[in-house]
Amino acid sequence: MRSRETSSRLALAVSLSLLTACAQLGEAGGESSWDDFVPLVAVEDGPEYHLLDGYDPIWMERVRQGVETSRTYWGSYGPTHVWILGRDGSGDVSEDQELAFLDEYCACRTATVERTLEECRLYAKERFIEVMERGEAEAYLSYVRETEPPMAELVFINVHNWYYERDPVPDPVLRGIHEYTHVFQSSFPVTPTWMMEGLAVFTEAWLPWRSGERGIEEVMSYSLEAAKEVLGRGLSIAQMEEIETAPRRVARYHRELAYDAGAWAVAFMIHESKTRRVSSMRDEFYPSVGALGWEAALAQYTGHESVASFYDDFAALMESSPAELSALLSRLKD
Ligand SMILES: [Zn+2]
Repeated sequence: MRSRETSSRLALAVSLSLLTACAQLGEAGGESSWDDFVPLVAVEDGPEYHLLDGYDPIWMERVRQGVETSRTYWGSYGPTHVWILGRDGSGDVSEDQELAFLDEYCACRTATVERTLEECRLYAKERFIEVMERGEAEAYLSYVRETEPPMAELVFINVHNWYYERDPVPDPVLRGIHEYTHVFQSSFPVTPTWMMEGLAVFTEAWLPWRSGERGIEEVMSYSLEAAKEVLGRGLSIAQMEEIETAPRRVARYHRELAYDAGAWAVAFMIHESKTRRVSSMRDEFYPSVGALGWEAALAQYTGHESVASFYDDFAALMESSPAELSALLSRLKD
């Protein structure tokens, strides 16, 4: 999901444990819920990038490459701030550098709300610096409702932990692609968890394939195995419409249902659409969510009678052979 910090402790715990957690509702000084979600808006300028001084700028460049690739495809929405920090062992980050980062963040965060800098610094230290010092890696979108207008924060902590030279596309680039996809989605009314994460994962596969950087099938086949395993247990993406309220026995499969099965469900949506173009998610489906709500929009886009019949057909599709599923991917267009 787009990473909006959520007031639901369960969802937060689930997403943090996944490290690549995605969408959370704004917190830090206010109760938030999806009920008062106000979409982000189209903006002319790209995101503003903020790097902790002392963290190797190469990590910001990789994240930026992913974010900008995604933004070029999905369009420019926000306002969006990107916060990048970490300790990669190549040098020391001094307390002054940490303080300067927190002050930059809090200047941005307290500009239009009644919150003291001191309160903000305490919150930000816990959320950024302490996570960094524990050596944990995180990437998420946090939707901030309390500012005027609402804004998106993309947070990337210790992304060097996810870097492996053998990867054809560095993981920090993929994290940028993924999280910015949530910015795009957050510019429309709320859609289900499986669609949020599914599209972000699918985009991680689609955009590098489109630019010739890596194949799509091998990437999607990882998701396929995980999805089949969990669907084989009798679970369904229908149970993953809202991670915040999912029962524990379902929430424990957040990753497999939302990210893995979700990526295939999104591929199936596009395959069922009139044009089979991925860009029709951007140009047709999401704009129609605003007018119709996601359920009617999904039915209209895929030509299904209802969301229930879409779920049924998706469950049947996932019983197909890997060769048939791979042929489905090959029929998708840009
Ligand atoms: Zn995500």
